[in-house]
Amino acid sequence: MTAVAEVMDYAEVVERFDPVLGLEVHVELNTKTKMFCGCANEFGGEPNTHVCPTCLGLPGALPVLNGKGVEGAIRIGLALNCEIAEWCRFARKNYFYPDMPKNFQTSQYDEPIAFNGYLDVTLDDGEVVRVEIERAHMEEDTGKSLHVGGATGRIHGAEHSLLDYNRAGVPLIEIVTKPIVGMGERAPEVARAYVTALRDLLLALDVSDVRMDQGSLRCDANVSLMPKGATEFGTRTETKNVNSFRSVERAVRYEMTRQAAVLVAGGTVTQETRHFQEADGTTSPGRTKETAEDYRYFPEPDLVPIAPSREWVEELRRTLPEMPAARRKRIQTEWNLSAEELRDLFNSGAVELVEATVAEGAKPNDARSWWVNFLAQEANARETEISALPITPAQVARVAALVDSGELTNKLAREVVKGVLAGEGEPDEVVEKRGLKVVSDDSALLAAVDAALAAQPDIADKIRGGKVQAAGAIVGAVMKATKGQADAKRVRELIIERVGA
Ligand code: ADP
Ligand code: MG
Ligand code: ZN
Repeated sequence: MTAVAEVMDYAEVVERFDPVLGLEVHVELNTKTKMFCGCANEFGGEPNTHVCPTCLGLPGALPVLNGKGVEGAIRIGLALNCEIAEWCRFARKNYFYPDMPKNFQTSQYDEPIAFNGYLDVTLDDGEVVRVEIERAHMEEDTGKSLHVGGATGRIHGAEHSLLDYNRAGVPLIEIVTKPIVGMGERAPEVARAYVTALRDLLLALDVSDVRMDQGSLRCDANVSLMPKGATEFGTRTETKNVNSFRSVERAVRYEMTRQAAVLVAGGTVTQETRHFQEADGTTSPGRTKETAEDYRYFPEPDLVPIAPSREWVEELRRTLPEMPAARRKRIQTEWNLSAEELRDLFNSGAVELVEATVAEGAKPNDARSWWVNFLAQEANARETEISALPITPAQVARVAALVDSGELTNKLAREVVKGVLAGEGEPDEVVEKRGLKVVSDDSALLAAVDAALAAQPDIADKIRGGKVQAAGAIVGAVMKATKGQADAKRVRELIIERVGA
């Protein structure tokens, strides 16, 4: 039996301690080939089919640097507002592990390609926090071990282990923040928001698949506590490979409550790596942390230094795509949105769909209202992603156009959208099949108006006598008779005309 770890109530933690965070994110680049050889850089594949003497570390094999890998690193550095080194080198990080056949990882140590940057991160309530970036450096991924026979896939209790070197040598960029201080109770949220913002940025750059579930984006969360008012950082733990955005938040929060309990009991926090347990949201000890000296770093003798020309760096800067933060600002201005409307739009996960609907000719407000209100609810009810709904931006734009031209009322438009979602065809076909067109033919409307007036002669008299607001009852009767397919405004006009008021 494992002892249940003591934790402190979160409210008390943030009353007594200031958390300090440090986030290390590893991102696999989506280059065609690996960082130092010509092997394919592809996720999965039959084990040990994307390997060669270089990435297997065979004697005499020499590395050749992948220029696209360097380009990706520089673009990430620029997007994170970093300085780009005029000259830097790779270093050997020496340690043994079976998934690393060279016996050292080719990495960067004190000469990262990018350093001193920042990323502005938007929290759930719209507040923007600037997270400072210490460095982004290049390295290579390791292979993968598969532990067979144990209960959990962990090495403990396994009968034997298998090794797959397909991933060995895949280009990896490690992005490290400076210590993030002063976040108080929002520290866990900041951690999640940072990793999310970083994912969005990398997605916009198109440098990686950024799939946390497949390991192309991995996050280690460093957390420490210091008593309120203290200035010296406490001892940190590093929770490894947390594999979803929500887990990042949970892991930070749990570590805060665990460390606080250790500290108030008079204990000390051990500097160590820890593992996050998805199932119960706790962390458990990994290994005590090595120091940089343990790795005996030295400059890589088989690769020449990297000296990216300023012309190249400026060219890469010029050709950066629009960054997510800039995009938010642009959309807010162009569509004239309040902070809440902007937040709801982004939280709905339908920004691209709304943009595409606007591109198909819909007004931004109409497009937004369809996706963020009506269709988001439909997606919710069907427990599916909004982007997976069987309706296209062009179809939504067509429905909006039919409302605009007066051919559909809002109520009928919702019926049309439901028809499209039910697979009944294009909006115009649904209108046709379900007979949803607004009755705009005056003669049909007049018949209904006359019938309604005849049925309620007292009301007809009132209208005639000048009580125009009494017409509402007749409008209601006509709408009922036409199954809601009449244009109410036109009906009212016809009533007034008819009674001669
Ligand atoms: P390591 O080699 O241990 O992975 P790194 O420098 O790569 O160290 O990353 C350490 C991370 O932890 C950085 O983001 C750094 O800002 C952060 N950090 C450093 N000291 C503390 C601390 N006392 N508490 C929390 N985070 C810290
Ligand atoms: Mg590190
Ligand atoms: Zn290779």
